[in-house]
Amino acid sequence: MQNQENTKTRAGYVAIVGKPNAGKSTLMNSLVGAKLSIVTPKPQTTRKRVLGIYSEEAVQIVFLDTPGMLSPKYELQRQMMDYVSSSIDEADVVAVIVAADRFISAEEYFPKKFITLLRGLKKPKIAVINKLDLLQQAKFVLPIIAEISKLEIFDEIVPISALKNAQTDELIKTLGKHLPEGPFFYDDEMLSTQSERFFVSEIIREQIFMDYREEIPYSTEVQISDFKERSKGKWFIAADIIVERQSQKTILIGSDGAGIKRIGEKARVAIEDHLGMEVYLELFVKVRTKWREDKNMLKNMGY
Ligand code: GDP
Ligand code: MG
Repeated sequence: MQNQENTKTRAGYVAIVGKPNAGKSTLMNSLVGAKLSIVTPKPQTTRKRVLGIYSEEAVQIVFLDTPGMLSPKYELQRQMMDYVSSSIDEADVVAVIVAADRFISAEEYFPKKFITLLRGLKKPKIAVINKLDLLQQAKFVLPIIAEISKLEIFDEIVPISALKNAQTDELIKTLGKHLPEGPFFYDDEMLSTQSERFFVSEIIREQIFMDYREEIPYSTEVQISDFKERSKGKWFIAADIIVERQSQKTILIGSDGAGIKRIGEKARVAIEDHLGMEVYLELFVKVRTKWREDKNMLKNMGY
């Protein structure tokens, strides 16, 4: 749909920030209406900033989904936190996602530093109370709203359920209201600026998060080594799964290669679903000692 010359449009960037597992990626996916960011029950799934674009007639919202905020323990996590602060810097509006089922008091929920940062920020701030569906009664959200408004930081407080898509229209309206007037940044058909390669590597990473426990997913990175788009026949995609130790490689591959085969199968189906076409997928497991601590290696990996 073309924008009328005489109607004023609003457009801007909204950073989605909050604790790990609050539902930031679920929210962005549900607002944009596409699965752009991987979602798993484990915290710290999102490593890089993921951009999702929502467009309607007069409003375009560019969402920056970010990794959950935490105190960094290694270089990769420090880089992840840099994504959070640069997203907040670039944003026109900051949306802070709060998990309703985890919220007891503002002091307990928000780290002090974060509150100080928000107070110093001269841009609209919206508190989004997520996971309403997990509250036994709808009215249990009222004390949470009261607690959050006591902080006198937020311009608006919007309760939603990202998973059930409840009240998300309200949220869109609220965000739109706070965006500056101006032309769209992107074509209104675009949902993201990330490449297909990025999505494919994320799909493989997600599968590893689903299939393996604690240590493996956090020590794993996926790099696409080959991506051939063919006009006839299946596309060819090869990816390296990078781990930190030989023992992790052994676990990932599994006995007789059963583990890697299962990941490959499931990832292929998900990639085909995402791309809308059939693909060959080849996976290789490689050991790169301490890649999470190595600045050069992280740079090569796009961090
Ligand atoms: P992120 O770490 O903040 O990006 O959180 P994710 O979007 O990855 O979600 C973490 C977990 O919370 C996943 O298991 C989601 O399915 C779940 N989740 C997200 N939003 C909701 C919600 O509104 N209701 C419920 N019940 N679960 C949710
Ligand atoms: Mg996430």
